[in-house]
Amino acid sequence: MSFEHATPRAAYVHVPFCRHRCGYCNFTLVAGRDDLVDNYLRAIELELHALGRPREVDTLFFGGGTPTHLPPAKLGRLLELARAWFPLAEGHEFSVEANPADLSEEKIALLADAGVNRLSLGGQSFDAGKLTLLERDHDAGQLRRAFELAKKRISSVSLDLIFGTPGETIDTWRGDLAAALSLVPQHVSTYGLTFERGTPFWSRLVAGQLDRLDEESERAMYGLAIDTLSDARFEHYEVSNFAQPGHRCRHNEVYWSGAGYFAVGPGAARYVDGRRETNHRSTTTWLKRVLSGQSPVAESETLYPEDRAREALVLALRRMEGIDRRGFATRTGFEMDRLVGESLGRLTALGLLEDDGARVKLSREGLFVSDSIWPHFLRR
Ligand code: SF4
Repeated sequence: MSFEHATPRAAYVHVPFCRHRCGYCNFTLVAGRDDLVDNYLRAIELELHALGRPREVDTLFFGGGTPTHLPPAKLGRLLELARAWFPLAEGHEFSVEANPADLSEEKIALLADAGVNRLSLGGQSFDAGKLTLLERDHDAGQLRRAFELAKKRISSVSLDLIFGTPGETIDTWRGDLAAALSLVPQHVSTYGLTFERGTPFWSRLVAGQLDRLDEESERAMYGLAIDTLSDARFEHYEVSNFAQPGHRCRHNEVYWSGAGYFAVGPGAARYVDGRRETNHRSTTTWLKRVLSGQSPVAESETLYPEDRAREALVLALRRMEGIDRRGFATRTGFEMDRLVGESLGRLTALGLLEDDGARVKLSREGLFVSDSIWPHFLRR
């Protein structure tokens, strides 16, 4: 049985609720629609029943939206459903995304008692001006409190940070990194702000009300994050992710390894038996379809082996350890040099990849422009 066709050992549950929509966010969510929570739980239960039988997993991930926006009783019900259909194997990782403004002691206890052992806190910044600009509903004090509360019960706490906001200086970003490190997180994810079509930030950019930070400053900020976190003994293990030893996000590593995973909820994407499916992104459409007995799937495709191999290459290159030629051939049935030899040679000559003959990985220069590298390996 090929790697992609093995029964998945990972599962994702999408929770689409948020208190309000931050101006830069284009995730699948509904803001201010808590009236839909009961129907959401009913629909999740139906989607889970469609699995036919419980599926034991090594990693379970609740993402959003904001899973911790659910009131305790509803969050408890979701945890119960997920645990029943995705029983956790020994040594599991159970991650939940959380918003500092929603995180109470009661909710943390609920999560910890249900086996959650990794919390990903959407802090984004400690700077008041930056948080206001990002339209976040917490301040630095709430973020610190939420972090300290979480640390008492949950063994691995990760912080998300955003850099490259309009008008941000390198000193502001340096301050964010220092404040994050002072909390001693087990994991940090850093993302450059992007302006996605359809978001209020995009409209404000087009209307000239917001300015993109220049590329050079953004690059300096990413470089500062890599150096600061590496100096603090974090392992830079993926383009945007840094972990203390033993605290990599195992669930995300499943995605980057090209292995399969189950998924439920609006907009959720699954990869089972070599087939990729994505649920309807609109929460109300997803609800209507599931509750009326229709399929929640909006798109599905079975990738050709060559496309699957190319995709596996790109996913693997996101990891700092890169990709081993022999392992790639065994896993995909394709020789890397036959498949993408010309692009590999060109990008290595440009100094964007490092190739020692056995293994290929991103160079430091390549890290700064990684998004422009991936299309060279995919079929157009
Ligand atoms: S809290 Fe997170 S998911 Fe919700 S709107 Fe803001 S950025 Fe998006």
